[in-house]
Amino acid sequence: MRQSVVMDHDQLWEAVERRDRSRDGEFYFGVLTTGIYCRPSCPGRRPLRQNVRFYRTPQEAERDGLRACKRCRPLETEPTGSAAKIRELCRYIEAHPDESPDLADLAARARLSRFHLQRSFKAAVGLTPKQYVDACRLRKLKQSLRESRDVAGAVYDAGYGSSSRVYERADTRLGMTPNQYRKEGRGVTITYVAVESPVGLMMIGATDRGLCSIQFGDTEGELVGLLRKEYPAAALEAMGTPDPPEFQKWMDALVSHLAGTQPRLELPLDIQATAFQMRVWNYLQSIPYGEVQSYGEVAAGIGRPSAVRAVARACATNRVALAIPCHRVIRGSGEMGGYRWGLARKRALIDRERARRAAS
Ligand SMILES: [Zn+2]
Repeated sequence: MRQSVVMDHDQLWEAVERRDRSRDGEFYFGVLTTGIYCRPSCPGRRPLRQNVRFYRTPQEAERDGLRACKRCRPLETEPTGSAAKIRELCRYIEAHPDESPDLADLAARARLSRFHLQRSFKAAVGLTPKQYVDACRLRKLKQSLRESRDVAGAVYDAGYGSSSRVYERADTRLGMTPNQYRKEGRGVTITYVAVESPVGLMMIGATDRGLCSIQFGDTEGELVGLLRKEYPAAALEAMGTPDPPEFQKWMDALVSHLAGTQPRLELPLDIQATAFQMRVWNYLQSIPYGEVQSYGEVAAGIGRPSAVRAVARACATNRVALAIPCHRVIRGSGEMGGYRWGLARKRALIDRERARRAAS
């Protein structure tokens, strides 16, 4: 099933820059100035591109007089069997954003059972095959939207076929429709309200689709400022009376969650995310109430063990506190690490959850 295609060096270099682990085994890069060759995912510092050469096999690199890197050990056994198949599948999906393969198509292509594919794909990539297909498309769409002035054109470029389809599908993922996404929320109304919570004032912002902001602060003015910064072009509206019933439900859930009577939060969210953020944020939602993990554990958990810093960044850019429990991620050393809404608050949230869990 391995295709012999000409290597696209721009693409390979991009994979090196991303430390893309899913391409390990597919190619190697040598650094002429150091005389060393590496896997794409090597955690070492990135060389200058002009000093890099690409190889299909370690043997080719060795023939060029390069030595295997001691950090990423390109000579050690390659993943075989389903791991290799899944990697090829990822490449296939990325290369064909205009197709919409379903699980059966992908399973047939990889010659795996649907059940096996679903399970091992999720384990290796951190997303289901369908989420991966959607994420690739959305990435292409977002890219086209930024580059193009014409939304309809971008929609076709990203392989959605018709704009009604993209609106249907993009809605749930991007949160905002493509038009709104380009304009940083223009045309979207965000209703907000501030409530007292055990860890200070909490502001909840929501569109008619779900929560788009949950933040902590000291004053209402500060919190409105934060919301404005996050969604510069959206219309902000203080919640009036009577409260929209949905909104009231979400608020009640958050308040009982903070009181410890509702450990699991399942709230509709209306946020934008890159495929990577989505992967991290999905994963964070699986860390049980009262438990913590290190940034490294999260990175390993999403199948990107070398992406510790990127995981920390994804945690730091979370806009919906509690709903995406980024406070449950700390440093491997046991130190608190960062928290967008202050370390004291992070510590308080962890302590409260632990106490509540111990008591139940
Ligand atoms: Zn290396």
